[in-house]
Amino acid sequence: MKLKIVSANAQIRCAHGGTVQVTPSLNTVFQGIVPLCVEDIMGASIVGCTVPQSNSSKPCQKVVSLMTGQGPIWICGQQWLVTDALVKAQGLTDGFPQPATWAVEDAGQELVEIDI
Ligand SMILES: [Zn+2]
Repeated sequence: MKLKIVSANAQIRCAHGGTVQVTPSLNTVFQGIVPLCVEDIMGASIVGCTVPQSNSSKPCQKVVSLMTGQGPIWICGQQWLVTDALVKAQGLTDGFPQPATWAVEDAGQELVEIDI
């Protein structure tokens, strides 16, 4: 199965329209892109979630887990994030009510794929 490597330019959102803000930890350019690593997404901040703050709800503010999208490639001790239409890179946020989720909407590049 071919999966796209998620780049530092990826669009990553919570289920309520908030934007997950990631900073790539690698400066490595691989086939023209800067890959995003699993470690970059864990704990990443989320801004713009539309869930109101109340006694029974809380907007997403950070990524707390990765459920799918963990790639098999390690480079410089880092594991890349991968995704496509079938295997979405996604996980949970700290929003409430749970489950509140995030997902990679767009890998940020079209050309670089890996075989798993
Ligand atoms: Zn949210």
